[in-house]
Amino acid sequence: MQNDFKLMSQNKIWFGSFSRFTEAGFTNACSCRLHGESDIAPGILNLALHVGDNPEKVLRNRAKFAEAIGVSADRFTTCAQVHGSRVQIITENLIGSGALSYADTVAETDALITNLPNVPLLLFYADCVPILLADPVTGAIGLAHAGWRGTAACIAKKTVHAMIEAFGVTPENLLAAVGPSIGPCCYEVDDAVKEKMPDYSQFFTDKENGKYWLDLWQVNQQQLLEAGLLQEHISVAGICTNDNPELFCSYRYENGKTGRMGVCLCRKS
Ligand SMILES: [Zn+2]
Repeated sequence: MQNDFKLMSQNKIWFGSFSRFTEAGFTNACSCRLHGESDIAPGILNLALHVGDNPEKVLRNRAKFAEAIGVSADRFTTCAQVHGSRVQIITENLIGSGALSYADTVAETDALITNLPNVPLLLFYADCVPILLADPVTGAIGLAHAGWRGTAACIAKKTVHAMIEAFGVTPENLLAAVGPSIGPCCYEVDDAVKEKMPDYSQFFTDKENGKYWLDLWQVNQQQLLEAGLLQEHISVAGICTNDNPELFCSYRYENGKTGRMGVCLCRKS
């Protein structure tokens, strides 16, 4: 496991990047909440159109984020995340889905993959786990949204399998990263969640109140290893969103009344 995640800013827009992805030619950025225009929580950089925020302000936030990280906002390719495990291949005709309006986002999908350059995949998070995948050999990329339901449905593993099938990637070549999200320090779950992950019970720690701390970072790493990735190719930011609500949106900390951060992954041409 590596930790090559660094926070940085450009034009007052803060985000974190994994340097190994960057060095291999993949733009990658996990946004922070600072210096946006949203109303939903005042002044945050909400990047999601589906949470009741003013759409014009969301698009201005997205434009600032795009400019800060060096991608085109009108090519942001997004999906309507439903805590499932469907993986969508992004072909030429789907580039820009949901970039300007929620109406044309890719429906009912929690992972996007592509082997095209200059396609800034953009998914939305507030505690759920971002999984980034990139293959320096074929140039293919994948981005997944893994809350507990997606994790229980093995979305990390399914995304790798989809990249193997669609693009012929070799899993040993893949770089992977786990972005900022709710950590094992704060993610309390009950038996109903544990029962849905019988293969990963070692990542649940008993609490005195009969509930558990769940380590979604470890479960997702384990799934990546099961899919054939090498341990030394997996980076974990190790930053808990619930512990850092001044920097990140946290669904739990803010009782659901918050925006969404974006995680963007794009192969440069
Ligand atoms: Zn925490």
